Amino acid sequence: MISESMPILTPKPNESAANEEDEHPDAALLPLSTSDSCPSTPNAKPASITLTIILLFLSTWIALAAAAAFAFLFFHSASNPPREVARPLAKLKTPVVLLISMDGFRFGYQFKTETPHIRRLIENGTEADLGLIPVFPTLTFPNHYSIVTGLYPAYHGIVNNFFIDPATGDFFTMSSHEPKWWLGEPLWETLANRGLKASTYFWPGSEVVKGSWNCSNEYCMIYNSSVPYEDRVDTVLRYFDLNSSEIPSFMTLYFEDPDHQGHKVGSDDPKITEAISRVDSMIGRLISGLEKRGFFDDVNIILVGDHGMVGTCDKKLIYLDDLGIPKDWIQSYSPLLAIRPPSDHSPKEVVAKMNEALKSGSVGNGEYLRVYLKEDLPRRLHYADSDRIPPVIGLVDEGFKVEQTRLKRQECGGSHGYDNAIFSMRSVFICHGPRFGRGRKVPSFENVQIYNLVTSILNIYGAPNNGTVSFPSSVLLPIH
Ligand SMILES: [Zn+2]
Repeated sequence: MISESMPILTPKPNESAANEEDEHPDAALLPLSTSDSCPSTPNAKPASITLTIILLFLSTWIALAAAAAFAFLFFHSASNPPREVARPLAKLKTPVVLLISMDGFRFGYQFKTETPHIRRLIENGTEADLGLIPVFPTLTFPNHYSIVTGLYPAYHGIVNNFFIDPATGDFFTMSSHEPKWWLGEPLWETLANRGLKASTYFWPGSEVVKGSWNCSNEYCMIYNSSVPYEDRVDTVLRYFDLNSSEIPSFMTLYFEDPDHQGHKVGSDDPKITEAISRVDSMIGRLISGLEKRGFFDDVNIILVGDHGMVGTCDKKLIYLDDLGIPKDWIQSYSPLLAIRPPSDHSPKEVVAKMNEALKSGSVGNGEYLRVYLKEDLPRRLHYADSDRIPPVIGLVDEGFKVEQTRLKRQECGGSHGYDNAIFSMRSVFICHGPRFGRGRKVPSFENVQIYNLVTSILNIYGAPNNGTVSFPSSVLLPIH
């Protein structure tokens, strides 16, 4: 995979040399040489004049060729600085990837307050210029599982944080660990299948026993939100105290913040900065622990978030009671409105009636909700090809929410789950380590690309996925 994609980054010195020589004969040197080659010698004999002219002509051309060669070397080296390649491992025997998630870390949070440790990774590593694009719906479980499988939710099966399997009537919740829900092949399973060691300090799906992954107690932590962040970081650091053959090649680390704060206070409240600082200090703890052990420059750290966050307020509400949609048709309200009408109602008619009412002006904030048959959703959302996705899907505009019934409460907070094209839903992609260029920016991309990035660094074959094979070579430093 790596060797296939490397030519994309390989400059073509021969081609550019030919072009520069063809297109840029150094015109500025010609007048000087020409005036030198035409001395005024009226009394000289014709033969010696001819010889002199030939010699001058030849010497002029030799001078010109030397000047052109010099100009080429000068401009070529100026426009093509030495190509940065992957740095050799100093202490590790084989590559290690540490994938860290900061839940709900909206792109831009890194500018809201001092984040010296995250900044250190950015300045000495590679960053997605305008953030990491989540998959739709921009919710925690679908996105975390897309990051580790490279699949859109319709294909990895976790289509929402909560949903019903229409075939069995079974409910999926965030604590469902039966393998039947979790399709695709997450990275820890890929590693186990290839005989490599992985460790998971929390990640949606990591507790599911599937394929060669048995979630052994030693390396697979059972989710418990009360475990202090410090303990999580210190456990990961202790893996680096093992014999080099025992160090997991792939590790995950997860922090619930700043998502929790974001929901409570919204993305722009000053209190969000406390949660950002807290996560930043954990990154600092990790960096200094790795430095102490001499591994900081050897580890490929991939720091991401699953989605962004936007402020919501109860004046931005749409009520389903106004649309005559009963509560028992609804599988999720907001920001992803998912409706499964009973079998005696045609989903197509439900969509037509809802949109008619929303456009009529009789429904408060109706213009901020659009309802679709799932197969008619914009294709870029990739949100149709699964029976687990209910037939009727509503997209609400940024910051709006859907509820069933008018209540008197008035509250403001934050939310996510909206269309992934909305900028506030973006998170971060910040990487540091031997395979990442220093101070480098790459264009934003969808998080389904990360699976191939990790398998490329670890030099293993991955499972089929929705990422592109050539993507890793656009982000990683080439090995040679
Ligand atoms: Zn959340």
